[in-house]
Amino acid sequence: ATMPPLLSAIANAGRHGVLVKSAAVMQQLGEVDSVVVDKTGTLTEGAPRLSALRLLPGTGFTEETVLAWAAAVENNSEHPLAEAVVAAARARGLDLPAVEEFKALPGIGVTGVVGGATITVARPRHAGLVTELEELGETAVVVERDGHPIAVLGIVDQARGDAAEAVAGLTALTGARPALLTGDNARAAERLAGEVGITDVRAGLLPQDKLDIVQEHAERGRKVLAIGDGVNDAPALTAAHVGVAMGRVGSDVALKAADVVVVRDELAAVPAVVSLSRRARRVVA
Ligand code: ADP
Ligand code: MG
Repeated sequence: ATMPPLLSAIANAGRHGVLVKSAAVMQQLGEVDSVVVDKTGTLTEGAPRLSALRLLPGTGFTEETVLAWAAAVENNSEHPLAEAVVAAARARGLDLPAVEEFKALPGIGVTGVVGGATITVARPRHAGLVTELEELGETAVVVERDGHPIAVLGIVDQARGDAAEAVAGLTALTGARPALLTGDNARAAERLAGEVGITDVRAGLLPQDKLDIVQEHAERGRKVLAIGDGVNDAPALTAAHVGVAMGRVGSDVALKAADVVVVRDELAAVPAVVSLSRRARRVVA
């Protein structure tokens, strides 16, 4: 007996390194006419590096001390940005102190208690502090000790080698220009968007904002494809017609929320499976 077209498309997607969770999802992939994409870990490699460490004047702490505190807290995080901070501390041979009461704040940052003081590494709450790094197109995060900013870290993450190809492919297949939804600052978002061929950029978003945007599209009758990797993307992935998670960098929460998991770490596999879905539907019809 021959396999039904949607099942054979799922098998084919598997050969592209993409896990499609059901035949219904395989069908829905070919129906999407709106695309939203996360930035960090999705359009970027998710292998960022620390590019700057600026101590704020008058705190009296050394770079080593501040970096060790920040890395100790980030060491508990699964966010791609966390790796950059931990790797930088390791490269300087720093010992990471013990952390109590670690908490991840999705789309915002991390916090924990180190030596009795609360250390937070998170997106900037005030613009002035970080304008210079943001103008360079870097992601800027602020280290705070007991609520007082003590340092600013610059972090850069490269676009994936196949991000521009994936954006062009999705545009051609769905007729919709993908929109970039990110919690990062507008400058870093626009720089990356320019590199991969995206013009519609929404920056500074919280997880709830990403969800709201997906729902707005859905209410206008659009079938939304949402692609992401993080805990911060999970609500949007769940609400989308089809949610796609990047497997290698993806958090467990995102993998669970998604209908499709890109197991082999290639973004261009996403337009490839949309195309498989369309061909399967043609066979059915
Ligand atoms: P994106 O939407 O691009 O994937 P996120 O929503 O995960 O980004 O994060 C938004 C912003 O929150 C980041 O640009 C960063 O400023 C801050 N942030 C999130 N997680 C962390 C973390 N673990 N350490 C430091 N900053 C973080
Ligand atoms: Mg992300």
